[in-house]
Amino acid sequence: MTSTKLSANDAARNRMAQRLAALERRIADACANAGRPRDQITLLPVSKTQSSASLQCALALGLHRFGENYLQEALGKITALPEDCEWHFIGPIQSNKTRAIAEHFDWVHSLERAKVATRLNAQRPAGMPALKVCLQVNVSGEQSKSGVAPDELPMLVAQVRDMPRLQLMGLMCIPEPSDDPAQQRARFGLLRQLRDAHLPDAPVLSMGMSADLESAIAEGSTLLRVGTALFGPRTPSPTETP
Ligand SMILES: *Cc1c(COP(=O)(O)O)cnc(C)c1O
Repeated sequence: MTSTKLSANDAARNRMAQRLAALERRIADACANAGRPRDQITLLPVSKTQSSASLQCALALGLHRFGENYLQEALGKITALPEDCEWHFIGPIQSNKTRAIAEHFDWVHSLERAKVATRLNAQRPAGMPALKVCLQVNVSGEQSKSGVAPDELPMLVAQVRDMPRLQLMGLMCIPEPSDDPAQQRARFGLLRQLRDAHLPDAPVLSMGMSADLESAIAEGSTLLRVGTALFGPRTPSPTETP
C-alpha cells in the first residue's frame, strides 16, 4: 500500500521548490523592469547554517553553487556534497583561515585586505585553477565596518592584479539594511561606478540579497547572494561566530 502522505524529505524539497519558483519570478520581474536578460545574472544560494541535507535538496533542484560564511561549517558540507559543486566563501576572513579557504573554495567574495590576498595567493595549491576573487567594498560609509573604503580600492586592485594565483573577477558589497529602494539603489549604483572606474574589464558585481535583489538587478548586479528567500529562515550557526 502506498502512502499518500509525503515524507519529511519530500515536503522539505517541495517547500524549497516553491521558494525557488517564487525567487525566480522576482528575478524575472526585476530583469524585465530593468530591460536585462536573465542569463546575465548568476544565482548564488547562500547556505550558511543550513544542513547538508538542505544543500542536497537544493542540488536536486538543479542548484550547484553554494555561498558559505563559516569555514569549519563549510568544510563539513564540502566533504558531504558531490565534488562538482562550486564553493564561494563570502564571510569575513581571518588570516589563520586563509590556507583552508585557498585549498577548498573556488571563489572568495569578501577580500578586503592586501595581507589576506597575499596569503591566499601564496597558499592556493599549484594544481588548482587561480582562485576567483571579488573585492568587498564599503559602500555605506561610517554605517559599515567591512569592505575596503572606495578611496583605497585602486591600491588594492593594483596589488591583487599582480597576484598570479588570484583571478580578479569584480566587486562585492553588503550595504547597511534599508527598506528604501532609493537608498538601496544608491549603494549598488556606487559599486557599479567603482567597478566601471577602476576595473572596467571585470565582469562581476556581487550584490543583492533576499531583501534587496530588485534594486541590485536595476543597478547591474551579475551575481545575487540569496539565503533566506531560498532556504527559509536561518537557525544560528552552532559552531562559529563570523
Ligand atoms: C547571509 C548572507 C547573504 C544572504 O542573506 P539573505 O538575506 O538570507 O539572502 C548574502 N551575502 C552575505 C555576505 C551573507 O553573509
